[in-house]
Amino acid sequence: MLDPFIRAHRARPSVYNLAGRVPVSIRDQLVRAQILVERLLKSSDLSAGSRLLVVGAGAAGATVGILAARNDIDVIVIDAGVGPFALQKSCTTRWIDPVQYDWPAQHADRGRWPLSGPPPDVPMTFAADFANVIAENWSDVLSDETFMRPNLDVRFETTLKRYPVRAPSSPAGPLTAEFSHPVHGDYTENFDLVVLARGVARERVTVPLDQDNPKAGVFSSVKFWQTDQFQSPTLGLAAPDHRVLVSGGGDGALQDYIRLTTGTKSALQLLTTIVSALPSGPGLLERLRWELAEAEDQAHRMQLWSADGADDHAALQNLHDKHLALIKGLQSSFAADWRDVVSTVCGLANGRNPERILLVHPCTHFSMAYGLNRFLALLIRECIRERFGVDTISGKTRVRSVRPDLGAGHSAPCQAGCWGRPHFVELLSGAGCLSAGTKHPSGFDYQGVVIRHGTEQHTRAGVRRHSLPKHL
Ligand SMILES: Cc1cc2nc3c(=O)[nH]c(=O)nc-3n(C[C@H](O)[C@H](O)[C@H](O)COP(=O)(O)OP(=O)(O)OC[C@H]3O[C@@H](n4cnc5c(N)ncnc54)[C@H](O)[C@@H]3O)c2cc1C
Repeated sequence: MLDPFIRAHRARPSVYNLAGRVPVSIRDQLVRAQILVERLLKSSDLSAGSRLLVVGAGAAGATVGILAARNDIDVIVIDAGVGPFALQKSCTTRWIDPVQYDWPAQHADRGRWPLSGPPPDVPMTFAADFANVIAENWSDVLSDETFMRPNLDVRFETTLKRYPVRAPSSPAGPLTAEFSHPVHGDYTENFDLVVLARGVARERVTVPLDQDNPKAGVFSSVKFWQTDQFQSPTLGLAAPDHRVLVSGGGDGALQDYIRLTTGTKSALQLLTTIVSALPSGPGLLERLRWELAEAEDQAHRMQLWSADGADDHAALQNLHDKHLALIKGLQSSFAADWRDVVSTVCGLANGRNPERILLVHPCTHFSMAYGLNRFLALLIRECIRERFGVDTISGKTRVRSVRPDLGAGHSAPCQAGCWGRPHFVELLSGAGCLSAGTKHPSGFDYQGVVIRHGTEQHTRAGVRRHSLPKHL
């Protein structure tokens, strides 16, 4: 029987794909990469002297390359960029925690991976930190390994041009990969096995400038892995009466709603601050935690087996309602604790005008997202509603178009450089998972617009859902 892990990642014979699967956090990609290499070695698909091509020098590709090279495989890692870990390397504001999103699991506050001391065969361990710091540490690991191992060759500015194929005349022969390099030009090489670790093709951060005129171009928001100003006390906006719109119902949007409204660098930091402020101590949230763990687990199981996402709406709505019910229960039955939660959250938000930050998402529930982000976004919304009488999360709403006012003489479409300028936003209200909604122009109301509409994949195969081990 073919190893189930190998089968789950096999794209074609001898070609394995680590991208296009969820969950896809950095920790998940490290686990995927490690297990795949171990299983390929165990099944003898990889053995000393095999030639392995790894496409992509992100966390997943680098892990595969290092582990395979340590096992005497001849490895070539290529990357289209000028260096490894490109997404994380230049982002100084995104805090990455390897385990916080395992919450409500108990180990979510450990802040390191692996959880207990690095086993000798885990090449790229990490502790919670800003993305650029983590990427710098990994770059050192990769260059040390490359220096020590002549059988590990890492080539940058090298792009895989076409899917690696076997010659039709030689179905058991090597896979031929075609590369392109700015100096060396196009060339081919043969391999026994290929691992694609190309990450996502593109992040969806654009919306039309004018929905009724496709030639007008697109508005492009600040990207997820771009250094931003969301945690600065002024959010990087000059006007004291700023308004910021965040669009999306997944982790990117929820994460940024949390950062913008409270200024905290991570969801876990916010949770810890709230728990330490509760007069009754952590016991109350511990009780909620177990109820949420059960609800999250049920939703996850439903979604794993949801054909074409058909059961997603019901699973996500149940989950959303459960989180809301627990927060309402906190408000009504534990009034003293709730008052402290409101003052803590609004205290953190002090000066940021959290009531002027609006999160819009397309349905009556959020999309697939981590429990911690879901819980905290809904909790923050209730705190702001209680303190300011304003609802800062609007469901059944989609962004139709965004047109920044770039000022006289500036006609180029916004490339996130328009942060702080007035933006004219058209919203569609009455939307749903499957329905568009009706037009609702807003006026030049927002000084910042953040689009978090998910990602596009390299292949048309769609994203596969997995349930991955958390520990090795
Ligand atoms: C919007 C977004 C939000 C995310 N949020 C989080 C988060 O909060 N926490 C978290 O832990 N993780 C998050 N992730 C996931 C995280 O980015 C990945 O787990 C991490 O980057 C490691 O992924 P990887 O190695 O599979 O791919 P990547 O890091 O994307 O690396 C892929 C590499 O492949 C290269 N490549 C692609 N095509 C070719 C080609 N044809 N030829 C040569 N090279 C090629 C690219 O240049 C790139 O360097 C997020 C991802 C996205 C897109």
